Amino acid sequence: EERTLAMIKPDGVSGNYTDEIKRIVVEASFNIVKEMLTQLDKDTASAFYDEHSSRSFFPDLVTYMTSGPVFVMVLEKQNAVSDWRGLIGPTDAQRAKISHPHSIRALCGKNSQKNCVHGSDSTSSAEREIKFFFKDVVSG
Ligand code: ATP
Repeated sequence: EERTLAMIKPDGVSGNYTDEIKRIVVEASFNIVKEMLTQLDKDTASAFYDEHSSRSFFPDLVTYMTSGPVFVMVLEKQNAVSDWRGLIGPTDAQRAKISHPHSIRALCGKNSQKNCVHGSDSTSSAEREIKFFFKDVVSG
């Protein structure tokens, strides 16, 4: 079994997509190991997206990610990291609606920034991100 970090971003939570996304998660055979509703502050959002700190969209990204509560989950199944990335679809939700119409970002995202959900992009970032939010969870 593998674990990944999934997050419903502020637009997903405020748009009331949490229950529908959790249904999709369970139907896709993920086990929800941990879940938490939390409000990110500027420092936390900046630290989470530290790899993007030099990008031009970073200040907007931090504003977006702190605009309301997020719903964070640790998901577990075989190939959890790539299976969850596959379910959420491409970063740009506008494109997702055309190329991956059944993806979660096509369902509830809006554009390349407001894309409704997050998923770890590798097993190593999954490990880092799970520890970031759930310091008591031993991964693996
Ligand atoms: P995430 O890491 O949130 O799962 P991702 O891996 O698909 O998304 P990244 O390239 O890691 O995409 O970008 C992180 C986040 O930064 C995106 O999910 C999006 O919210 C925002 N972002 C990425 N590219 C842009 C852009 N060109 N303009 C505005 N925001 C962007």
